[in-house]
Amino acid sequence: MSNSYDWINKAIATIEKANWYRTPQIVDPSMLMFASNNYLGLAQDQRLIDAAIAATQKYGTGATGSRLVSGHLEIHDQLEQSIAKLKGTESALVFSSGYLANLGTISALVGARDLILSDAYNHSCLKQGAILSGAKVIEYSHNSHEDLSQKLKANRNKHRRCLITTDTVFSMDGDICPLKAIVDLAEQYDCMVLVDEAHGTGVFGDRGGGVVSSLNINYPIVQVGTLSKALGSLGGFVAGSTKLITFLKNRASTWIYTTGLSPADTAAALKALEILQTEPQLRQNLWHNVKLLKNILLEADIAILPSSSQILAIKIGDIKKTLAISKYLKTQNIFAPAIRPPTVPSPRIRLTLMSTHTPDQIQTLVTNLKTAIHQLD
Ligand SMILES: *Cc1c(COP(=O)(O)O)cnc(C)c1O
Repeated sequence: MSNSYDWINKAIATIEKANWYRTPQIVDPSMLMFASNNYLGLAQDQRLIDAAIAATQKYGTGATGSRLVSGHLEIHDQLEQSIAKLKGTESALVFSSGYLANLGTISALVGARDLILSDAYNHSCLKQGAILSGAKVIEYSHNSHEDLSQKLKANRNKHRRCLITTDTVFSMDGDICPLKAIVDLAEQYDCMVLVDEAHGTGVFGDRGGGVVSSLNINYPIVQVGTLSKALGSLGGFVAGSTKLITFLKNRASTWIYTTGLSPADTAAALKALEILQTEPQLRQNLWHNVKLLKNILLEADIAILPSSSQILAIKIGDIKKTLAISKYLKTQNIFAPAIRPPTVPSPRIRLTLMSTHTPDQIQTLVTNLKTAIHQLD
């Protein structure tokens, strides 16, 4: 009998001891949801469902091949054009997920002779993409223009190319990167900039183009995003110049060596992009709800981490108490998860808003939060 795998049990025990043990919870659709990335409610929109069904009937359930070999469909082209239009870029490329879009793009853009400067709070896929690239990776303090500037000054000239990577909307705190200052530094130090707009796409900007399109920036930025959050589908993308996209089609291994996006996912995303343009009220409702929740939390004297987005984090401090609050909310049929180390540095209840929440639902959340926090004091 081999005991080569015994270490796994010990590793799990260590995870449990640190209160880091996690397991997926089945989501009951009757629960009041404050944790979904479905910011505009599009994942349940009948028009997306119908588009997915129609595409499945026309093309089948799978793309059945990689895009370069036999899996390239007309709707992939249409989706990529539609993304480029939304982002105001020449071209776009669709990947199977946002995670894979970042892995493939970062590892194609830089290599062993190059430098990556990465925000310390960047999403896992930006960090893993940096490791995969083989470039020298230096983290700068979260959202710190000063630290980035210092690290560029000390390191930039020792490397060939340099790529600065950052989330635009940080997924765990809900704060936003200082993009204009980052771009100024990129210009000064001759760097490429890659932003992850997973939580910005569909939500920020007049037309839902994201944080980049909400600012007036005249510098080429590699814009990565996902179809799986506000757009209610599944998949990821990169938007940028035609040259960049042509290069990625030849060098991004997570795009080249994997099957094309399924017809259903592709058609649903395409429909979502259309609705984004015709129904700005979805975004307006979302922002209205954000303001309402912030006001009610303030009145209830419940502190949140600084946020300028639809993601609000309630700082509790203690892991056990954070877990107990989330558990209590669940007994009240409210889904608001405890997020804790190692995902984030400090435990919190993380809330996300949707355009489909009603004022009553938002009030119910805060009433129950207040009860939970006081009961457990
Ligand atoms: C969710 C998320 C991703 C991954 O996107 P998927 O399409 O779900 O793989 C990437 N970056 C950030 C910041 C995210 O929040």
